[in-house]
Amino acid sequence: MLRFAPSPTGDMHIGNLRVAILNFLVAQQNQEGFLVRIEDTDTKRNIEGNDTEIMQILEKFALIHESVFHQSEHLHMHQTLAIKLLEQDKAFVCTCTPEQLEADREAAKAKKVAYRYSGRCHDVGKAEHSKLKESGIPFALRIKKPTEDIVNHDLIKGDIKTAANEVDSFVILRTDGTPTYNFACVCDDMLSGVTFIIRGEDHLSNTPRQKHIKTELGYNGETTYAHLPMILNTDGKKLSKRDDASSVKWLFEEGFLPDAIINYLLLHGNTKAPSEIFTLPDAIEWFDIKNISKSAAKFDIDKLRFINRKHLERMEDKALSTLFGFADTDIGKLAKLYLEEASTTKEIDTKIKAIFSPKNFTGKWSEHMRTIEILVQNAPMFSKFDDFKSYIMKGSGLKDENFFKPLRLLLTGAEQGPELSDVYPLIKSYLLEIAS
Ligand code: GLU
Ligand code: ZN
Repeated sequence: MLRFAPSPTGDMHIGNLRVAILNFLVAQQNQEGFLVRIEDTDTKRNIEGNDTEIMQILEKFALIHESVFHQSEHLHMHQTLAIKLLEQDKAFVCTCTPEQLEADREAAKAKKVAYRYSGRCHDVGKAEHSKLKESGIPFALRIKKPTEDIVNHDLIKGDIKTAANEVDSFVILRTDGTPTYNFACVCDDMLSGVTFIIRGEDHLSNTPRQKHIKTELGYNGETTYAHLPMILNTDGKKLSKRDDASSVKWLFEEGFLPDAIINYLLLHGNTKAPSEIFTLPDAIEWFDIKNISKSAAKFDIDKLRFINRKHLERMEDKALSTLFGFADTDIGKLAKLYLEEASTTKEIDTKIKAIFSPKNFTGKWSEHMRTIEILVQNAPMFSKFDDFKSYIMKGSGLKDENFFKPLRLLLTGAEQGPELSDVYPLIKSYLLEIAS
């Protein structure tokens, strides 16, 4: 079983989307299930409606999941498992106050050593637990640190050893009774039978903790991990919310196709893709997660634009036209003519809107435009551009630039663009609407 476990705490980042795509893809390759778990236990950070938005995005990318649940639905189970560790003496009750913990942190800072839990409450066991519950003194539950170092074999990052001290005795249940991310994550992964975890490298330090929790809970199933390098911005820094391109919503608004975004994200940091342009089903055939480079790569919007163009080119003409409010093969073909100068549906939409909007009859060419407009409005239907052109030329007495500039402006609303001989056959059935 594989899973995508987003936190509903903000706009979906392309890093998250990449994680979702890869988990889905590997699930398909291994013929395993794929589930979605909304990690909503950090209630202060949850954004209302964000879970629905995440699910809508997954749907747009056709990442089909077999089930979805909110982590908070499992609160009781998380608490029960934490108490079980306490009863087995694998966890302890910690009554350290925030002030004490802060002082410990400050002391570590002053000594220039890494902060570790002081061990103050290490021996406060289950006997104290019921007394504390009655007294109303706030307490957290901490898991006891491991006795041995923890080694994790990561498919991308290789073997990583973490010292037992570094894993430390960490909080699994907060003073308000809610589980910490690491604890809830492990309980749910175990209970859902998740055996393969692909996620961002920002979780690398959580992995030994999660392995430790699993061991203490008596789980002996194997889990495969792959931690993906961050996606960098053009300055070489981690792509953050401040970078527009980091938001999946922004990419949609800009007119990037889901297929192109998937294509780009599967190519990003990939050292061995057999081709540059492909679909998710193609990639399922050859993709190997081990071929993702260990080091981070920069997000390349020009590459995404190129890929988007290629996917637009591959789209069926009529389907393409629906993106611009038509259901007409010719308009799909017209959109493709503009791929020379446009890469996104938003850019093409601007071109098509200019064709169908009322024209601007001011400026240098306005008079000739009027002349041509009247002729077009009264012309018979010509299927060939050459016949149409000769008819208008003859009728207007205009030639060269004086003919072609105003004609182009009248037909396309722009001074430049694809050859009129290519455009004409695709718009000829709309001429009366266009040439005005
Ligand atoms: N909610 C975590 C995140 O969005 C999930 C981490 C994980 O996959 O375990 O980063
Ligand atoms: Zn303590």
